Amino acid sequence: MTYPGTLLKRQQLMARKELGQNFLSDPKAAEKIVNKAAISENDLVLEIGPGLGALTVHAALQAKRVVAVEKDTRLAGLLTGELDLAGIDNVELINNDILKQDLEAIAKDEKMVVIGNLPYNISSQVLFKLVENRHLVKRAILMFQKELAQRIAAPPGGRDYGRLSAVIQYCSTVKTVSDVPAHLFFPKPAVDSRVIEVTFSKETRFSGEKERFLFKVIKAAFSKRRKTLRNSLAGSELGIDTSQSRMALENAGIDPARRAETLGVEEYTELTEALWTMGMEGKDEQRADQDR
Ligand code: SAM
Repeated sequence: MTYPGTLLKRQQLMARKELGQNFLSDPKAAEKIVNKAAISENDLVLEIGPGLGALTVHAALQAKRVVAVEKDTRLAGLLTGELDLAGIDNVELINNDILKQDLEAIAKDEKMVVIGNLPYNISSQVLFKLVENRHLVKRAILMFQKELAQRIAAPPGGRDYGRLSAVIQYCSTVKTVSDVPAHLFFPKPAVDSRVIEVTFSKETRFSGEKERFLFKVIKAAFSKRRKTLRNSLAGSELGIDTSQSRMALENAGIDPARRAETLGVEEYTELTEALWTMGMEGKDEQRADQDR
């Protein structure tokens, strides 16, 4: 693996901050991360943001095939060069924004192992996309800014627990794999990173419409996290008033004076059930219709 700074300089390229380009420059660390993904020779691997190939090379040596989705068209030549150098021919590079990429089209009828040192500015959106497409994912080994990784795994009750934590913990188990210090990247980012393993649950309480509604309820609850739940749910995109939100909370056995960060996933599902039973799941759409 060529040092990222050298590769970029050779092509007179600068790392693009807006694409979260902090390239892993330590081959040992890269190999260690990929090994944690326990890729087998039958696996299809999806890599998000391969950059200059730090993880790609190791993944390709272990997998049946790697599909790597990279937004920055400038890097294609450099990445292909690195793969050729390592004698690798089982990587398909797709130049696209991962947020626009159809994952079904990549997976077809296989389940994928997903890896990625995620661009920090879209990490949460990528994770939400993986949740939506989790039927296609065997497991995911992903690198985040350490602070975000802590938020994802945070238990209810503290400041770190938020919308992303509740959604992820509803449908998966999260395990910390390792920490990666900032000096192992080029250019060096301001903060350290953390690799986590996300294993999606085989069964979840809801699916389809009802699950989408749960995610909406969680979003609404955290939209004004300093307020009591009675007030944050009312006036949110759920389109309900305070007496309806109080009734739903009470029906779910939740004190309406509690705040979003104190509710565990079970309680969010109970609340969703209560709102659903009261026929509140379509309130915002009904209001939008009336406004038209
Ligand atoms: N995997 C490489 C590594 O570990 O050195 C690069 C990691 S770097 C933190 C993030 C990579 O994601 C960059 O190559 C960047 O260009 C790419 N990227 C940024 N936004 C993207 C998007 N929306 N879709 C796909 N790739 C993206």
